[in-house]
Amino acid sequence: MPPEGTPAGATAVGSVYVHAPFCLHRCSYCDFVVHVTEHGDLAAWQEALKGELRAVEREGLFALEDSLQTLYVGGGTPSLLGEHSMEALASVVGRRRLGSSDLEWTAEANPESLTGGLAAAWRRSGLNRLSIGVQTFNDEALRWMGRQHDAQSAERAVDAARAAGFTNMSVDLIFGLPERLERSWRDDLERALALNVPHVSLYGLTVEAGTALARAVRDGNEEAVAIQQHQDEYLLAAEVLGAAGYEHYEVSNFAMPGHRSRHNAVYWDGRPYLGLGNGAHSFAAPVRRWNLRDWPMYRDRARAGYVPEHDRETVGADARKLEKLWLGLRTTEGVQLADLDERQRGLAAAWSEHGWTVASEDALRLNAEGWLLLDELVVELDDGGCGLTARSTTLDLRR
Ligand code: SF4
Repeated sequence: MPPEGTPAGATAVGSVYVHAPFCLHRCSYCDFVVHVTEHGDLAAWQEALKGELRAVEREGLFALEDSLQTLYVGGGTPSLLGEHSMEALASVVGRRRLGSSDLEWTAEANPESLTGGLAAAWRRSGLNRLSIGVQTFNDEALRWMGRQHDAQSAERAVDAARAAGFTNMSVDLIFGLPERLERSWRDDLERALALNVPHVSLYGLTVEAGTALARAVRDGNEEAVAIQQHQDEYLLAAEVLGAAGYEHYEVSNFAMPGHRSRHNAVYWDGRPYLGLGNGAHSFAAPVRRWNLRDWPMYRDRARAGYVPEHDRETVGADARKLEKLWLGLRTTEGVQLADLDERQRGLAAAWSEHGWTVASEDALRLNAEGWLLLDELVVELDDGGCGLTARSTTLDLRR
């Protein structure tokens, strides 16, 4: 039920993404929405978010439900905003909306700024899930990537979070690093297991236009990593994490029972969500809209009380259908066979013979081998019907 007083036409949302754009340094492979600075500007961030939320409510675009189900703070480096940042965010969305015992409130943190003091303060503010950007335990590889931490500080950060009372934690690991770095992917997986955290997210390194890595590849100073290495490392992770008891519940995500990311499930299920912050996306079927990417432009527009939207698109019925297939196949839920036509069910049977699916009477569900082919399979399933092409693969999903 929409909250009382919701403007006509506004979409009531129980899930909110908030972008924190600040980073100490831009990593060599990163093309995310980042504002490089020594300190995050907490006051300006809070004021801009407040302005944006008021504007989207006033314009009748979205209304927050009385009780949020998920709140996700991503970046950038949210931990660069310091100890008071989650309390500041609570005042933006309204403390009373954060009272549900079911609330999943996640923030991303980088090891160099995830101190004991910060973890304790965030925990007191009500944050109950941390996503920690570990990436690798190989110090040379971390330096090559331009990360600001080392392996020891990653382990210390997890300990600090645990000491502060966090039990629901995820670590990010990156695969597909150049072989010359002599990073052992198996060692990284084992060290991640030793952290004993209930969730692991994997990201494959890709060369994105405009990054330092792309320039190095263009100038012949780096080589793009062979697809075979990406595939081998992805399958090794599925094997090692699976053997340790993690459910491979989505292309890039592994969880101990009861620890799947509920916020990400909102995206995968096609449910509505509001994105606040520069570059943030929002969705209320059939419209997807996204904000200005540049932090100063976004900040000034939001503080002035305007909706800081950059653009929007209406997702047509055919595109929605394809998107539903693509999102469904990303997770272990898969897509129901009853929702497929005869040609598609024939394809599902053929994929099963290739060993790309999990046996199921009523659904088409991909396994790790199938997920390596996700984009191709979805396009084949759609038969090019709505003219969309592959949009993202297992191998280029990064944080
Ligand atoms: S990869 Fe993460 S830490 Fe590095 S610049 Fe990008 S957002 Fe910041």
